[in-house]
Amino acid sequence: MVRMIELAGLTKRYGEKVAVNNLTFTVRPGIVTGFLGPNGAGKSTTMRMMLGLDRPTAGDVRIDGKHYDQLKDPLTYIGALLDAKAMHGGRSAFNHLLCLAQSNGIPTKRVHEVLDTVGLTAVAKKKAKGFSLGMGQRLGIAGALLGDPRILMFDEPVNGLDPEGIHWIRNLMKSLAAQGRTVFVSSHLMSEMALTADHLVVIGQGRLLADTSMADFIARNSRSYVRIRTPQRERLLDVLHAAGVTVVETGNGTLEVDGSKSEYIGELAAQHQLVLHELSPQQASLEEAFMQLTAESVEYHAHSDTPVDAPLPPQQQWGDGWKGK
Ligand code: ADP
Ligand code: MG
Repeated sequence: MVRMIELAGLTKRYGEKVAVNNLTFTVRPGIVTGFLGPNGAGKSTTMRMMLGLDRPTAGDVRIDGKHYDQLKDPLTYIGALLDAKAMHGGRSAFNHLLCLAQSNGIPTKRVHEVLDTVGLTAVAKKKAKGFSLGMGQRLGIAGALLGDPRILMFDEPVNGLDPEGIHWIRNLMKSLAAQGRTVFVSSHLMSEMALTADHLVVIGQGRLLADTSMADFIARNSRSYVRIRTPQRERLLDVLHAAGVTVVETGNGTLEVDGSKSEYIGELAAQHQLVLHELSPQQASLEEAFMQLTAESVEYHAHSDTPVDAPLPPQQQWGDGWKGK
C-alpha cells in the first residue's frame, strides 16, 4: 500500500471566485507535509475536496489511486480534523466517538485507546460543548485516529491553542509520520510549519507557489547578512567598495552586507580607524520569505484578469525574484 494523496489540476470555483486553482502535487508517507498559505488561500477547500466533501470544478484527487467515495471503510484509510466546532456538542466525548466507531464498524475498545492517546480519558463522560478549544481539538484528533488510518489530515490544528497544546499536537504529528503514516497539515503560520513539517507545499490565491523540502526552503530563504551602523558612513562605503565588498544601503541609515563577514568588515574598519556603532550578523526570517512569496501572488492577482488555466508568470515561480532585496 502506497498511502499517497495525489492532486492533479485540482480546481474549485465558487461563482466568479477561483478558490483553488489548478493544484498538482503529491503528499507522501513517512513525513509531515505542511500545507501553508495565508487565510483565504484555499487550504480548507482543497482539504474538503480530498475528503469528497466538496466537488472539484476540474481536476482530481486520489487516495491510493482511488477517489474518497471508492474507498472501502474510508476511516481506516484517512482520518481528518477539519473544524472542531462542527462537533455534536450535546454528547459526551465518549459517546461522540462511540457513534463514529459504531457507524464505521470500529470496535469500542478503539474508543478507549484514542481517548487515552489524546489525554481525554478523565473527561470522557463530560459533554463536549463544555470543552475548551484545546480539549475540542483533542477530541477532533481522537476522531481522526479512530480508524487507525494510514493517512491523516489536520486543518489548522493549532489555531487558538495554548503553547502546551501546540507542543503536544506537533509531537503527535511527528510520531504519526515516524510510524510511516502520511501526515498532511495546514497552517497560515510559517513559524509553525518550520517546527513541524519535513516538506512544504505553499499556496496563495489558490495557486501552487512552492513544493519543496523544508530543508531546501530554509537553505534558500534564510539569507544571512551583516548589519552595520557607523557615523562615518561615506568613508566606510569607500573602504568597503575598494575592498570589493557589495553593500546595500537601507532606508534607515544602516548598511547591509550579504554573507557572514562581520570579522572581515570589523578588521577593515579598524585598519582605516573608522568608528562602528553596530556590526551584527543577521538572519532574514522564514516568515519574511513566506510573506514575500505570498504577497507577490496577491499583488499579481490584484492587477490582472488572467484566466484560471493560464500558466504562472515567471516572477511567480518558485525561487525567482523574491530572494533578498
Ligand atoms: P483557507 O482555508 O486557506 O483560509 P478557504 O479554502 O477557506 O481558504 O477559502 C478559499 C477562498 O474560497 C476564500 O476566498 C473563501 O472566501 C472562498 N470560499 C470558501 N468556501 C466557499 C463557499 N462555500 N462559497 C463561496 N466561497 C467560498
Ligand atoms: Mg481554512
